[in-house]
Amino acid sequence: MNNQTDMQEMILSGAPASPGITVGKARLYKRRRPMVSGRHIPDMDVEQHINRFNRALSVAEQELQDLIAGQDDEEAVELLQAQVAMLNDPDLKKRVELEIKQANRPADAAIDQVFGVYIDLMEEHQEGALKRRSLDLADARDRLIQLVNDNDDTREIPDDAILVAHELSPREVIEFSEHDIRGIVMDRGGITSHAAILARSMQIPTVVGVEEASKSIAANELIILDGNQGKVIVKPSTDTQKKYDDIITEAARKQAKIQQVCDKPNETVDGAGFTLRANIEFENELPSIERFCAQGVGLLRTESIYLHCDHFDDEQKQYTFYGSVLEHTAPHPVIIRLFDAGGDKLFNVAEQEQNPFLGWRGIRMLLDKKTVLKQQLRAILKAAGRYPGRLRILVPMISSLDEVAAVRKAVAIVQGELQKEGEEIDPNVPIGIMVEVPNVAIQARAFAKQVDFLSIGTNDLTQYLLAVDRGNERISGLYSQRHPALWQLIKQVADAGKEHSIPVSVCGELASDPAAACCLLGMGITELSMTPSALPAVKQALCTRGISDMQALASKVLESTTVAESEEIFTNF
Ligand code: PEP
Ligand code: MG
Repeated sequence: MNNQTDMQEMILSGAPASPGITVGKARLYKRRRPMVSGRHIPDMDVEQHINRFNRALSVAEQELQDLIAGQDDEEAVELLQAQVAMLNDPDLKKRVELEIKQANRPADAAIDQVFGVYIDLMEEHQEGALKRRSLDLADARDRLIQLVNDNDDTREIPDDAILVAHELSPREVIEFSEHDIRGIVMDRGGITSHAAILARSMQIPTVVGVEEASKSIAANELIILDGNQGKVIVKPSTDTQKKYDDIITEAARKQAKIQQVCDKPNETVDGAGFTLRANIEFENELPSIERFCAQGVGLLRTESIYLHCDHFDDEQKQYTFYGSVLEHTAPHPVIIRLFDAGGDKLFNVAEQEQNPFLGWRGIRMLLDKKTVLKQQLRAILKAAGRYPGRLRILVPMISSLDEVAAVRKAVAIVQGELQKEGEEIDPNVPIGIMVEVPNVAIQARAFAKQVDFLSIGTNDLTQYLLAVDRGNERISGLYSQRHPALWQLIKQVADAGKEHSIPVSVCGELASDPAAACCLLGMGITELSMTPSALPAVKQALCTRGISDMQALASKVLESTTVAESEEIFTNF
């Protein structure tokens, strides 16, 4: 879709595949389809052509292995390995050889013919994995044809430009990335295409699905690529250039500041250590973990799988998601919370209740929906077996010790079943609970004896403690996570954890408030988890103060009796 905003400037819209804004000259890249000979070969040349084909296969594989060796991006490595597997497909190899032998076709034409059949089959799929693989196969075909014909790869690699192409294969993205291209615009592809996935992991701003971009943008034309919004501005006006220059400068300033904070060790000025992790829910949040230097995931909310997916009971889908989070966060831990559905997050509207927050929610619902619990545990425990020592299970909405025992039992049963099936398991996967119902905080000592860690969910703990619905605008003035009573409960939980030598963390919104984070550290809670973008400000606050000041802050807050008093203490800190 394009629209003219003035005589010169043209805005093209597409899908934001990889974030970032960049300005540069367009370089048009057109993949050249190598020429294929149409002749027939005599029987005596058959063997020579089969040999040429096999040599091309090993050279192409070696090229991919070289690219793999130079890659530290896991996703890129996986995609390249998939291409190697394609080249090693015995069926494809056999068919090409038969085509040379039986139809007396030269090697290049045989490759073209056999690969063409597979590509056409894959192309029939409107989208999805097969459609994406067809592009990879076409790329392999072209490279093999070049190699059997001893043609050099004539790919022109532009430096320092914004690449505009109809479509790129993973190999092309990787090769271009080595030449410092500033951005990528593609006519085709969605945000889940292989090229988009790679561009994201390589942090190349990219807009895909910009129909006709390669036809409507001329070589060397000045363009602004806005990978955040999925826009390409061709021949930008002076005003637009100025606006984007300002945005780029501001973004660079912010990133430099974040980086400065990230590079500091996680210690207070007097050397007390702390751990900051990320709360995430979706796969597309993974890059922010690295960007904001989180030490793993302190809360992986999983209920969106349950709520938004028709196949929430798809164990494989869950296993892939958990695996991907673990893969991206190595070597740090990942704390996966069981579905916290129910309450106001219902899959089935017929299950709506009068008092949803006090109702059939979290573990209460899971213990009734045994199949849902079992499937989630199977996916989690299989992932734990694949990444031993890194995964922890967090149980939401616990309000009784019986529930803890029931979860432990369910985990043990599923572990036994998986072992019988020959799956690897991590026998010591820690099981912790959310402290979000006040009775659990009050009885924290009893709960601490039965679990491996405690994670305080201040969002719910506040609403249950103060009897204030966290989502009700009308009474939002009564909802404060700085309420002295909340702090008193937090202190009890921190002390219980210390007494029983189990970790206590905070994963509610309170942890993302820099002054509150200092107070939590002052109470001895050294593990905090929050929305990734809040990490730099919290770290900055913790790194620039001493632990004794934080302890003094905690004592004062514990002595306060009203929200106004505690607010004042925080403001003066
Ligand atoms: C909490 O209650 O503090 C919490 C982290 O969980 P959620 O916000 O998902 O209910
Ligand atoms: Mg909660």
